Amino acid sequence: MSGALSGPIGATVLGYPRIGPRRELKKALEAYWKGASSADELAQVAADLRARTYRELAGLDSQPISGSYYDHVLDVTAMVDAVPPRFRPHGRREGTALDEYFAMARGTATAAPLEMTKWFDTNYHYLVPEIGPDTPLRLADETPVERVREAVAAGVTAPRPALVGPVTYLLLAKAADEAPEGFSPLARLDELVEVYAQLLAKLADAGAAWVQLEESAFVADRGDEELAALRRAHDRLSGTPDRPRILVTFSYGDPGPALDEVADSRVDGIALDLVTAPQLADRVPALPALREKTVVAGLVDGRNVWRADLAGALSRAATLLGSVGDLAVSTSCSLLHVPYDVTVESTLDPTVVARLAFARQKLDEVVTLGEALRSGTRPSDAAGSAAVAVDEAVRARVAAVAPGDRERPEYLVRAKAQQERLGLPPLPTTTIGSFPQTPNVRRTRADWANGRIDDAEYTRRMRSEIERVIRLQEAIGLDVLVHGEPERNDMVQYFADNLPGFATTELGWVQSYGSRCVRPPILHGDVSRPEPITVDWARYAQSLSSKPVKGMLTGPVTILAWSFVRDDQPLGRTADQVALALRDEIADLEAAGIGIVQVDEAALRELLPPRRADWAAYLDWAVGSFRLATGGASEETQVHTHLCYSEFGDVIDAIDGLDADVTTIEAARSRMEVLADLEAIGYSRGVGPGVYDIHSPRVPEREEIAALIAEAQRVVPGDRLWVNPDCGLKTRGYEEVEATLRAMVEAARAARLRH
Ligand code: GLN
Ligand code: ZN
Repeated sequence: MSGALSGPIGATVLGYPRIGPRRELKKALEAYWKGASSADELAQVAADLRARTYRELAGLDSQPISGSYYDHVLDVTAMVDAVPPRFRPHGRREGTALDEYFAMARGTATAAPLEMTKWFDTNYHYLVPEIGPDTPLRLADETPVERVREAVAAGVTAPRPALVGPVTYLLLAKAADEAPEGFSPLARLDELVEVYAQLLAKLADAGAAWVQLEESAFVADRGDEELAALRRAHDRLSGTPDRPRILVTFSYGDPGPALDEVADSRVDGIALDLVTAPQLADRVPALPALREKTVVAGLVDGRNVWRADLAGALSRAATLLGSVGDLAVSTSCSLLHVPYDVTVESTLDPTVVARLAFARQKLDEVVTLGEALRSGTRPSDAAGSAAVAVDEAVRARVAAVAPGDRERPEYLVRAKAQQERLGLPPLPTTTIGSFPQTPNVRRTRADWANGRIDDAEYTRRMRSEIERVIRLQEAIGLDVLVHGEPERNDMVQYFADNLPGFATTELGWVQSYGSRCVRPPILHGDVSRPEPITVDWARYAQSLSSKPVKGMLTGPVTILAWSFVRDDQPLGRTADQVALALRDEIADLEAAGIGIVQVDEAALRELLPPRRADWAAYLDWAVGSFRLATGGASEETQVHTHLCYSEFGDVIDAIDGLDADVTTIEAARSRMEVLADLEAIGYSRGVGPGVYDIHSPRVPEREEIAALIAEAQRVVPGDRLWVNPDCGLKTRGYEEVEATLRAMVEAARAARLRH
């Protein structure tokens, strides 16, 4: 071991937000991309933020050192030079690293960006590495070493560089396009580990006593070969002569057999997520190898916003004391997933604030825990003092839900009643809900929120927008219309703003990817729906047209997936509360004469737990809550659902289980793959595969859309097939949308003749 500062990890966190408390990094990045500022200016903003983070982490015994311009997986890609050749048309050049980095993240005129996908079951997205047999793997960029030097110079006492571990990096990668059939990125592990070994020596030399390597890919199901790879990699790294101590972290779940592998290796410490996987605490005493190691107990929830139960956490920590070499306390994962500071919020209800801990508050929690553990005293328990606001009526209603509440009449009966009411042609055309959000629409919402216009003026402007969108759809010739969602900033936030039980923050920004941040609502109490939310807009839209207008709601699972949720009751119960609120909304839409209601479940797949063994339990409550929301709809009301953002292979049965009359689903980019999957399991209701990829501003040719429709017709009988875009049109421009929808309607009409 080197002569670097060394010491126990004590109280720590596994990572810290990096976007800036006021989204400083976001603004600096966007200015740089626009050409409005220089690389030096960007570097200065980022350095100031890091300096600030070092000061905030000073109270910890060991400080994680990260700080990324965009994404921590992309950082490794840049560090090891695994840059796909399309970003280097002229070979590798000096001085272009930053632009190459952003090209991988955002694409260029000639090169598509790296694919983006979800980081475990969080709302963070990383950039997927592309690894082939010839992808370079060498230490090309020593940013982590520079960061350690910077931290030491800034007076950080125990800098602990935090990186994605080599095995997880390759398991999160995909095979490069040019790789031969069957190539697995893991085949390059030994070479990558050599790069990490070189880096480790340099980190030690720069003054790092510990290095943190995240191997969270092992909280999902992994085969023997992958487990062996983990062991091999960490044996090799811990055999490096001059190296910092190695801390392997497993966040977001239970590492299962990977824990045995790493325990038996020569790494010095292991961090466990005892919030997501409390059962791990029972395994620790059974692993004698841990008596020689540091175990970092992740007791403070790194991805939710509630204050920790410190007394409870302390007693759990205390049970581990005799079974490990050295016990440290930490968050369950990086604090990347929570906002910076709850004390800057001025509009939150104080009884809710009393229950909240954002990143800064969580630092205090781990320090308090560390002190209590050292001194053997009990921490005072502030968390217990503020209770959830209870709504007895809501609780009673959830308790009284009967299985029949989740059932509708038989599909064939419904289909007949709906067809009689709606009289739709074969291959009906529709859209997914939102129309382009013009600057005008955004301004109207902002003016109203800031009190610059009154309710009457707001309603007048929104109605005129709705009327415009209805007239446009009629002119294009769509069969089922939408009101366009001009009143919604976001499909979840809008409902959270209108449902008691949710709170909204002013500055609670969390990085979603790159410079994109979201402000998830906080679902803190029992959820009710005292009055209709969407009904007036829907009724108005329907009054303008003889064509059916769809009511538009967001489903319970998606609302939960994009909010911070309560942890004091099972998620399924919270979902049922939201479902009952939506159920009432659907009843009111029906009473207002709306014949079609769409309940979006864009995030259905997102909450799928990392291990397959846990899927059934999740899908059971997830599907159940959707059915509770929609189960009260009369047989002649057509219930639609919409899904996007994912590969659906894993949830095909669940999609069928939703029992919606029509499912519209993203499909254009995957060439209708999902349809065959659905038909293979005997799905027999309406389906609208997206025939227009709304992620791109490109206007597809009519023939292109026609080809996709024809492909769909080969798989799905014409009387069940719908024609629609992949998703909402809110991020698109009117010109492209109008041209494409016209082409879509023409293509559908032509296809009807073949029907
Ligand atoms: N109805 C929503 C819209 O059209 C659906 C958005 C989504 O699925 N992401 O905007
Ligand atoms: Zn969508």
